[in-house]
Amino acid sequence: MRPMTSPLLLSPSPCRLLRRLFSRAPRRRNPTTPRPLAPHLGRRLPLRLPASMSSSSVGTPDSVVADADALARKVAAIRAAGPAKLQVIADFDGTLTRYWYDGSRGQSSHGLLRQGNEEFDSKREALFEHYHPIEINPDIPVLEKAKLMEEWWGKTHGLLIEGGLTQEAIKKSVADAAIAFRDGVVELFEFLEARDIPVLVFSAGLADIIEEVFRQKLHRSFKNIKIVSNRMVFNEEGCLVAFKGKTIHVLNKNEHSLDMAAPVHDSLGDPNGSIDDYSLVKKRTNVLLLGDHIGDLGMSDGLNYENRIAAGFLNTNIEKSLKDYSGAFDIVYLNDASMRGVVELVSDLCP
Ligand SMILES: [Mg+2]
Repeated sequence: MRPMTSPLLLSPSPCRLLRRLFSRAPRRRNPTTPRPLAPHLGRRLPLRLPASMSSSSVGTPDSVVADADALARKVAAIRAAGPAKLQVIADFDGTLTRYWYDGSRGQSSHGLLRQGNEEFDSKREALFEHYHPIEINPDIPVLEKAKLMEEWWGKTHGLLIEGGLTQEAIKKSVADAAIAFRDGVVELFEFLEARDIPVLVFSAGLADIIEEVFRQKLHRSFKNIKIVSNRMVFNEEGCLVAFKGKTIHVLNKNEHSLDMAAPVHDSLGDPNGSIDDYSLVKKRTNVLLLGDHIGDLGMSDGLNYENRIAAGFLNTNIEKSLKDYSGAFDIVYLNDASMRGVVELVSDLCP
């Protein structure tokens, strides 16, 4: 990874985002703490922010840009380089999918899975209870944590095999799941597909489940989208027998995963492309990264990018996390926002 080296190029006719950013006054480099919110405000209702922090207008999802000048420079540089230099890297759970679903916490691609075998579902739940506190404990050194995460993923995958997970159980789990894409996701994918901009969806979950979510919830595929995640091997009876490639867990979910993952030929049953195409991804040196955790910024590790715009979805604990998120991401979308802000952003990047 290296810092931005491109000259600062500003479009003679500023794009919408730039116009909005530069029309705000006064701009502040460091966000102030938003005023305290009623507990429910972090869930459904628009968050009121000081005008200097919010780049959104009334009626659109709230977003926060801490350093409008830096973002404007990146937008201008990426726009000048053109769509052939751009790639999108996206997290799946809580980024492409909504955090809330019918008023409750939506399910993750991992959490929705029911093996159809209560004993093994309980065993996996017990592993979650043991390892999840480790995952979120900031006091455990990263190397030690990575080892434990690999252990957790390995045990979970072992239980899925031992418990006889079937392809049918995956289909049923997804059909019954409380999971939905954000509004505007299809619009975003269509926009990117029309311009041949690749989208790599990185997930420490299970590729087969994510692809099933795409099938059932979007009812279509996109030739520019590849899922880089843990991929299952099924026997002729449709029973899980193995996993392909090395395990991708929360702490190694990055561009190195491309080398670790099994070839992604069968994404969505779509014959377009293969992992070979993705050596070309490394030549796309401008990145739009979408995530919902600060750790998602690591998804671009291993990629020698010139410009990266990081867009973060801050779905919960807004009061507590806004300062960190607005420092880490170039733009932060609040309150489980739709994807329309990102659609507007890519429209500015690729007019
Ligand atoms: Mg996520």
